[in-house]
Amino acid sequence: MPRAVTEAFVAASRQWVNLEQLQAAASSQIAEITATEAGLVTSGSAAALTLGAAAILTGHDLGRMERLPDTSDMPSEFLIAREQRSGYDHAVRAAGARLVEVGFNEIVSGAGVRRTELWEYEAAISTQTAGILYVVTNTSVPRLAEVVDLAQRNSLPVLVDAAGELPPRKNLTAFAKQGADLIAFSGGKAIRGPQSTGILCGKRQYISAAALQMLDMDDHYALWDPPEELIERTLIHGHPRHGIGRGFKVSKEEIVALLTALKLFASGEYDGDLPHQRRRLEIIEDRLAGHAMFTTRMIDDPTTERGPLLEIDVTTGESAKAAFEVCRRLRQATPPVYVGHGKLDHGTLVVNPLCLDDDGAIHIASQLIEIANQLARPA
Ligand SMILES: *Cc1c(COP(=O)(O)O)cnc(C)c1O
Repeated sequence: MPRAVTEAFVAASRQWVNLEQLQAAASSQIAEITATEAGLVTSGSAAALTLGAAAILTGHDLGRMERLPDTSDMPSEFLIAREQRSGYDHAVRAAGARLVEVGFNEIVSGAGVRRTELWEYEAAISTQTAGILYVVTNTSVPRLAEVVDLAQRNSLPVLVDAAGELPPRKNLTAFAKQGADLIAFSGGKAIRGPQSTGILCGKRQYISAAALQMLDMDDHYALWDPPEELIERTLIHGHPRHGIGRGFKVSKEEIVALLTALKLFASGEYDGDLPHQRRRLEIIEDRLAGHAMFTTRMIDDPTTERGPLLEIDVTTGESAKAAFEVCRRLRQATPPVYVGHGKLDHGTLVVNPLCLDDDGAIHIASQLIEIANQLARPA
């Protein structure tokens, strides 16, 4: 977290505030930055997905809110492209939704050439369909706008998992502009807010239903005075009890810190850090230059807002096996080093410098050299 974010966190800890009012203020700031109608600070993007699914399942029906995750008496199916499934969709199922997969994963299986097509979503729509879950990346097909168009023609909402799609900054507004009803972003990734935060933003009616199922509801109806900007009180006829999202509460400190980070991210402030990130990777590159066991490759496209990455190939005989061993030993270092481990099968370690300082860069390089020496020594 940038200093301004931790300072906001500490300052908030010294204040007293009504959390509904604070979430309402957060809602209008998030709405402005994301070009949506409303927003909620959540305990991470996964929690945002559970709350978003809950809001779609229940709307403002208090009986349904009370019954979740039991969805036996309501349409509960969310369509999802089979190729978009991941461990994170557990968060949607946790609300009581049932996922209905469409399309195939033929390219991965090597048994076909086509990806998911729009007609496959259309063919799966039934009276039991509650919405569509769409995991957006810049290679997702069919395109979000096409799926939204189909959804709108069938009066279905689209819940978008965009947790890791920032930067670029334009993605703060891109998915809402394409008509998504609800969008989940992580607060603890590139926004650099508290790790435990996220954002759910989108249509006001759903944010209201999500807020009702997350906020503390232990009050007297006669005294309860929820902020109109956040809670659509005219749509409910009673006072719900704690909802399915009650375990996802966020503190005033987290809300204020996340908003501070979101404003820094949206303003482009973090771009100033990119040359420093590159320099730290160059420290590692310089120290590994000419090493018998490693070759390095800088991945840096200055036309994007994404920071640079350093790929380090382990060049000994069985490089995949060696890369796993180097990765394991880096984790046992003091302090431990966690490199990107998505390419170990190809013998490659990835260094993401987002949270690295100069000392950290020197530490990584010296640990790599030390581990190489250990592995070169006969057992
Ligand atoms: C990181 C991520 C999540 C979870 O985000 P948290 O903020 O850690 O809860 C969900 N979906 C995708 C695609 C992610 O990359």
